[in-house]
Amino acid sequence: MPLRERAVNGISVRQKARLRPIGPVCLLAAGAPQGQLQHEFEKRTAGNAMAVVVMKFGGTSVANVERIRNVARHVKREVDGGNKVAIVVSAMAGVTNQLVAWVREASVLHDAREYDAVVATGEQVTAGLLAIVLQSMGLQARSWQGWQVPITTSAAHGSARIVGIDGAEIKRRLAQGEVAVVTGFQGIEPERHRIATLGRGGSDTSAVAMAIALKADVCDIYTDVDGVYTTDPRIVPKARRLPKVSYEEMLEMSSLGSKVLQTRSVELAMVNRMRVRVLSSFVAPEAMEPVRLDRLEDIGTIVCDEDEIVESQVVSGIAYVKDEAKVTLIKVEDKPGVAARIFGPLADANINVDMIVQSVTPDGKHTDMTFTVQAAELPRTLETLKAAKKDIGDFDVQSSADVAKISVIGVGMRSHAGVAAMMFKALAGKGINILAITTSEIKISVLIDAAYAELAVRTLHSIYGLDAD
Ligand code: ADP
Ligand code: ASP
Ligand code: MG
Repeated sequence: MPLRERAVNGISVRQKARLRPIGPVCLLAAGAPQGQLQHEFEKRTAGNAMAVVVMKFGGTSVANVERIRNVARHVKREVDGGNKVAIVVSAMAGVTNQLVAWVREASVLHDAREYDAVVATGEQVTAGLLAIVLQSMGLQARSWQGWQVPITTSAAHGSARIVGIDGAEIKRRLAQGEVAVVTGFQGIEPERHRIATLGRGGSDTSAVAMAIALKADVCDIYTDVDGVYTTDPRIVPKARRLPKVSYEEMLEMSSLGSKVLQTRSVELAMVNRMRVRVLSSFVAPEAMEPVRLDRLEDIGTIVCDEDEIVESQVVSGIAYVKDEAKVTLIKVEDKPGVAARIFGPLADANINVDMIVQSVTPDGKHTDMTFTVQAAELPRTLETLKAAKKDIGDFDVQSSADVAKISVIGVGMRSHAGVAAMMFKALAGKGINILAITTSEIKISVLIDAAYAELAVRTLHSIYGLDAD
């Protein structure tokens, strides 16, 4: 099977169709000067030769000016160590939430382009502040907003995709020893020249895309935990850091709720084979060594090809999400085409359906159809179904947002049987009822009552042998 097909197993067909390398954005393709500059960038090999590093700092890492100073010390360490550095920053912790709240307060129904004009400002503040602090430390630094690079995006305001990056100017300046501080989460939509944002958590995607465009050796994502864990360490203190995780597992973990990396950033890294490392900005900057390409594995978690992982567990991680809602259509007439009549209008309304369970009633003439959607989409889902009632036929409807989806993920499932049975038995042992199930080659997800979410995560973490000693 071609690698790309195999690699994207477990994500939706629509997502698959969108996966493609970000090739055209790469710097040399974008017309960078050749000669000396290119030579400088190509000097790096393994060992302690210069590396080109993209460092991304998330909201808690830049939450105030003192933390921005701490970030600047991480940057200085790399520059002093001879590496070329481009930085991608998020808004200071809480700022984007505040901006979104103001937009909603201004008008619940608002223009998406103006939403983006407001929410993109958080990153602009951080980029400017970090450039100022870096300059005060004697480094050459300049801030860049997405449109100045430019980072071009699709026109889907609020959840735009990066379609290209012209990194020529930044690359030229890096070669001269300047540090580029780029705003994450945003770019410019080229038709109308409006700022577009990439969806919550989008700075991770900005960082990976910049790394690809600059042909960086590694994309370091600095956050408030020191790597990717077997599950959210805030829920399960016994969670273990994974030294390495495959792109495919990380893609599943992100899309199933582990917010440590935005799903799109993992897609981009996977398709372009960019090495991504997750590490903590809260380690004293001077206690860390500058990036050395032969020592990348010393700290954090590397997201890389499955082949690079020598010892892999059957199950590598547990993820959970609480923002799904369950809808059940009761006693729908069971005849050919009924599923199409239910899910067609939902697709037309752009509502993503996740899990689906159909059960035929004992009389054999009717069926109950249960499915999940994003909790935020529940009102629209119910309205859409009501409008489609004349085509679907008679039914009663029940819905609940008090559900959680718990997923067990691991590439080892491809070759090991019994992972699902073990999951069902463990949940039953705790009296937890399963409302729906979905599987792919490398994951099993179950829908349960939200009240049991944490108990389920802890139980599964333990039975698959993931607890730290
Ligand atoms: P940032 O602001 O740096 O982008 P995020 O809050 O988006 O950081 O992501 C980091 C958080 O992700 C951690 O604080 C942690 O609670 C959460 N998280 C969820 N699942 C995992 C996991 N499997 N491994 C590590 N962190 C996880
Ligand atoms: N500031 C944006 C957010 O809070 C983007 C990011 O932090 O990655 O979602
Ligand atoms: Mg984040």
